Amino acid sequence: PAPPFLVPILDGTSHSMEYTVGQFGSGALVGWVASFTKPRTIPNSLLPSTTGLSPYFSMGCLSVRTFFYRLSNIYAQAKHHSLPPVSLQGQLLWREFFYTVASATPNFTKMAGNPICLQISWYEDAERLHKWKTAQTGFPWIDAIMTQLRQEGWIHHLARHAVACFLTRGDLWISWEEGMKVFEELLLDADYSINAGNWMWLSASAFFHQYTRIFCPIRFGKRTDPEGQYIRKYLPILKNFPSKYIYEPWTATEEEQKQAGCIIGQDYPFPMVNHKEASDHNLQLMKQVREEQYRTAQLTRDDTDDPMEMKVKRDHPEENVSKGKVARMTEQTKIPSGMTHWEPKK
Ligand SMILES: Cc1cc2nc3c(=O)[nH]c(=O)nc-3n(C[C@H](O)[C@H](O)[C@H](O)COP(=O)(O)OP(=O)(O)OC[C@H]3O[C@@H](n4cnc5c(N)ncnc54)[C@H](O)[C@@H]3O)c2cc1C
Repeated sequence: PAPPFLVPILDGTSHSMEYTVGQFGSGALVGWVASFTKPRTIPNSLLPSTTGLSPYFSMGCLSVRTFFYRLSNIYAQAKHHSLPPVSLQGQLLWREFFYTVASATPNFTKMAGNPICLQISWYEDAERLHKWKTAQTGFPWIDAIMTQLRQEGWIHHLARHAVACFLTRGDLWISWEEGMKVFEELLLDADYSINAGNWMWLSASAFFHQYTRIFCPIRFGKRTDPEGQYIRKYLPILKNFPSKYIYEPWTATEEEQKQAGCIIGQDYPFPMVNHKEASDHNLQLMKQVREEQYRTAQLTRDDTDDPMEMKVKRDHPEENVSKGKVARMTEQTKIPSGMTHWEPKK
């Protein structure tokens, strides 16, 4: 489901944003679109906090170009609006970014033979992969996300971050290609270039370099949903735990587990790894890989900010864009003829 004011565009009542603005009052739609800031959207809201349009794009029901220009029309009605990379148009630019790199990179959806991707000896562990895929990791935040993915075919971008980091560099050290295949099977919006690009990003195999930042499968979800409503919805077996245990039910006493009607180890699994130990170990492995493959790690390095960390730039947008940065980006992303991938930054 998409936010209510986008529904008429999608259900055939109307094919135009202008109509929707008229129906719902320009205030609601213009305000929402103009102030859209990706990092402020919530991964565990019970209805999508972003547009929910990705399946419509991937199935070809909604033209990305049309949507981009409709957004420009809406921006024109707003006094201020957010800017790329965090704005709504910025999200579409990420899409185009991954398409562009995919088209210029051999073996983009694989590690082997992919010149921008770190070559990593990931573990091959079918049993652990199966637990992750079937929502049996024992971490309610991760399992709730994998359940939503299976039931609804869509999860929020940050929820994708959480489960992708957990599978790869965070906890299980299993190849991003395995995760990509599961997403390809279960996502309604599955798209080869965006999926592979983001999996490389999240596993720090390419594009992303702050690899020392590892998401905690307990604290991540708590920030925006301390009561665990999202977990209660997707993992009803845990729904009677008090909020203080909902992200780590194994810490409840046996008596409390009985009262909640769920015995850990019997009705819901114990955590499959000790997150602290696993992530510390994996961090050392990743450091080593990046030192050994320094040249590859630099290929997709850029100094643009992480889109999930950026603050809104509302006023005087043009002045906020550093001319130096634009020049550097242009220089870096220009691919000389005859080359199939980016050159390392000097
Ligand atoms: C591991 C991983 C795998 C992913 N796989 C896919 C995939 O197969 N297909 C897919 O469409 N998206 C994928 N994404 C990107 C992103 O999570 C989804 O596009 C977004 O969550 C879809 O929800 P929305 O339409 O409400 O997004 P909104 O925030 O409303 O954005 C609008 C549109 O912008 C585009 N967009 C948004 N974020 C990104 C992004 N990071 N990269 C590229 N395009 C983006 C999408 O077309 C999206 O529909 C993946 C992200 C991760 C971390």
